[in-house]
Amino acid sequence: MEVIVADNAGFCFGVKRAIKMANETLDQAHGPVKSLGQLIHNPQVVTSFQKRGLEVVADLDQVAPNGTVVIRSHGVGPEAKRRATELALRVVDTTCPFVTKAQQYAAKLIEENYKVVVIGDKDHPEVKGVVAHTDGKAIVINTAAEAEALKFIPRMGVVFQTTHAIGHVQEVVGALLKRGKEVRVFNTLCGATTSMQKTAVELAPDVEAMVIIGGRLSANTAQLAEVCRKVNPRVLSVESAAELDPAWFAGIRLVGVSAGASTPDEVIAEVVERLTGIEEPATSA
Ligand code: SF4
Repeated sequence: MEVIVADNAGFCFGVKRAIKMANETLDQAHGPVKSLGQLIHNPQVVTSFQKRGLEVVADLDQVAPNGTVVIRSHGVGPEAKRRATELALRVVDTTCPFVTKAQQYAAKLIEENYKVVVIGDKDHPEVKGVVAHTDGKAIVINTAAEAEALKFIPRMGVVFQTTHAIGHVQEVVGALLKRGKEVRVFNTLCGATTSMQKTAVELAPDVEAMVIIGGRLSANTAQLAEVCRKVNPRVLSVESAAELDPAWFAGIRLVGVSAGASTPDEVIAEVVERLTGIEEPATSA
């Protein structure tokens, strides 16, 4: 099968930065190092760090006194950082700068007495961290229907989950405009995911199917698959080459590939190699 890989597929700036910081921390550490939440949402990367000793913990109590804690790239709330300081932990903060910006805008809006609305997935760690920067006062919505169901808000401040698709947030903001008098919107979308989605969407209509590679927990990977599905219904999401079933590709000669921002190059290369090796079944005369 012929395979075309979309530009910008795979590791973004924020993920590369988090991995570099975690590697340097492990290289230099004299004691145990823990990661508060998964460093990034990719199982292969998390497992390889676990093998190097970076254990994922859900709570700071699981970090040894005076130990080192790595804050995940999706960020945490201010309380977790305060607590880490109280516990005298060494903190290595890998929060992506785009996420930090969203946290800062949300905190500023609350300070200025706006009701903050976050457009995102309420269960995603990044969104939880942004809400924590508003003292838990922000409302989280994810659809235009949810926006329309809100009570009228005279002063509304809006931020987005960094990895959302631009078309989606435009639709939800459009609905929010009907529910507020003063509506202040900060564009907190991350440039890396916007470019990744754009190149994948440009490729998707020109191929017979798209394969999107990335962790199941990765929000940007899920968004990537969703935007591609709008222009080509034949989209397959996989975490690794092992999940590729040749039967799914029956009759397909040309396939496009893209990958979420936390997908390592090796995983993309394995998938491409496997796809290239899938042969079309011989047609009977
Ligand atoms: S996808 Fe964007 S927001 Fe998320 S880590 Fe990468 S650069 Fe940062």
